[in-house]
Amino acid sequence: MTKRHQAKHKIDRRMGQNVWGRPKSPVNRREYGPGQHGQRRKGKLSDYGVQLRAKQKLRGYYGNITERQFRGIYEEAIQMKGDSGAHLIALLERRLDATVYRAKLVPTIFGAASPSAHVTEDAFERIVKVMIDGIRDAGPLDAVYLDLHGAMVSEHFDDGEGEILRRVRQVIGDRLPLVVSLDLHANVTPDMVHRADALIAYRTYPHVDMADTGRAAARHLALLLREGQHFEKAFRQLPFLIPLSWQCTSDFPTKGIYQELAAMENAAVPTLSFCPGFPAADFADCGPSVFACGRTQRDAQAAVDRLARLIESHERDFDGRIYAPDEGVQLAMQLSRTAQKPIIIADTQDNPGAGGDSDTTGMLRALVRNNATRAAIGAIYDPASAKAAHDAGVGATVTLALGGKSGIPGDAPFEATFRIEKLSDGKFVAPGPYFGGRDMDMGPSAALRIGDISVVVSSHKAQLADQAMFRYVGIEPTEQAILVNKSSVHFRADFEPIAEKLLICAAPGAMPADPALLPWTKLRSGVRLKPNGPAFTSLHPSKPHSTAIG
Ligand SMILES: [Zn+2]
Repeated sequence: MTKRHQAKHKIDRRMGQNVWGRPKSPVNRREYGPGQHGQRRKGKLSDYGVQLRAKQKLRGYYGNITERQFRGIYEEAIQMKGDSGAHLIALLERRLDATVYRAKLVPTIFGAASPSAHVTEDAFERIVKVMIDGIRDAGPLDAVYLDLHGAMVSEHFDDGEGEILRRVRQVIGDRLPLVVSLDLHANVTPDMVHRADALIAYRTYPHVDMADTGRAAARHLALLLREGQHFEKAFRQLPFLIPLSWQCTSDFPTKGIYQELAAMENAAVPTLSFCPGFPAADFADCGPSVFACGRTQRDAQAAVDRLARLIESHERDFDGRIYAPDEGVQLAMQLSRTAQKPIIIADTQDNPGAGGDSDTTGMLRALVRNNATRAAIGAIYDPASAKAAHDAGVGATVTLALGGKSGIPGDAPFEATFRIEKLSDGKFVAPGPYFGGRDMDMGPSAALRIGDISVVVSSHKAQLADQAMFRYVGIEPTEQAILVNKSSVHFRADFEPIAEKLLICAAPGAMPADPALLPWTKLRSGVRLKPNGPAFTSLHPSKPHSTAIG
């Protein structure tokens, strides 16, 4: 750690600025340097003076580095190709990173599951116990970093992550820095904001910025640890739910909102996040939110308010066309006549990444009913059918009651005779940007064929978000006219480059594309169940609920 040559309040006064954003800085009261009397200056600073001040500020901001150290970094920056100013900042930032990377990490526990209903009390208690015990037994800590999702509802806690943070604070006290990264689908609660020093969320859907989010969390930790900087927090919940399909950050309006968000971050507001939320968790705080850390309360609040206003101004734009199964398949068949690349249909309501069963048959029926050709659908989760295919062997024909075993209203097993094209043990690598080279295990799997339609059948569930999830059973996705993917948005990371056009279809499934169709009971009053949709009326109006904290 660099030696501190001067007390922070002295540096603040010399610079005439609250460099660290501390609430106790003397310049909060007197915004002028020592020896000056009142706000009036003796004329403007010279160019040299402006540059000197900028340099001194950088030196202070990045750890009170010495003149010699700064000169070394400057020399390095001007040797590099490109914008020397940007290089200088990057090198200074790396010093902050080093603070964290030099830190000794004490891991506690990692756990993940496909989204489904409530986390059981048993699972929650056992997993959180390992985490809390790990933190307690780690010895003296400088900070705690947690990588949480943010939309957990357990059998016994509506705000799962809020409860985790409450228990962590019980162990570490109020003063130890606690920084948390979150998924873009986090349903952030006032309690979560209150307990963490900073919450920092992904900015991409399909999620491809997990590492960037970790880096942002590390950077913020460095500001807290190395700089001893203090930040105020601001938080706002938005008054309408955003359907998953229109949260995609490749499309209007979400793309532009995140561009604006990135442009709004600066030294005064080092982190700003927007979570569109997971619009299927039935509890009071479900829905989109915006939150920030700022040097001052006013900085943080202004950024949050401005971003919230921007999002609210786009309420009507979080909308688009969703087709009925036959309608979508017929349109895809028509488009495919002149298309160079596959037409891809998102079977969004059966997306296992959002709580779907990955076994509904509505889209397969529509493909068969309309005699679609060169079509493939994946992946239908049905261990019994996969086993039957493995028992019969490649080239055989089998009559199956395929999928449809989850009891979804309007869905049923699809009884038909299929030819077995290829078998697999389900183990392969998914190299696309969403899974990012992860080892996959779909369990015993098969490619079945009916007419000119191929069906991927698996024994484990996973969202169809990588081209390899067709290839592992011998189906080449780029050679199909129509692909049906059991996914809402994540598939787009790997499939958009090979798609002529994307369509969204709503076949019967567990995750309605329209959140207004869910049987809400606990949402806070007044939240619109979809953009410009009907407002929810609380069944328990006596309990007041705050939607913003300072
Ligand atoms: Zn997510």
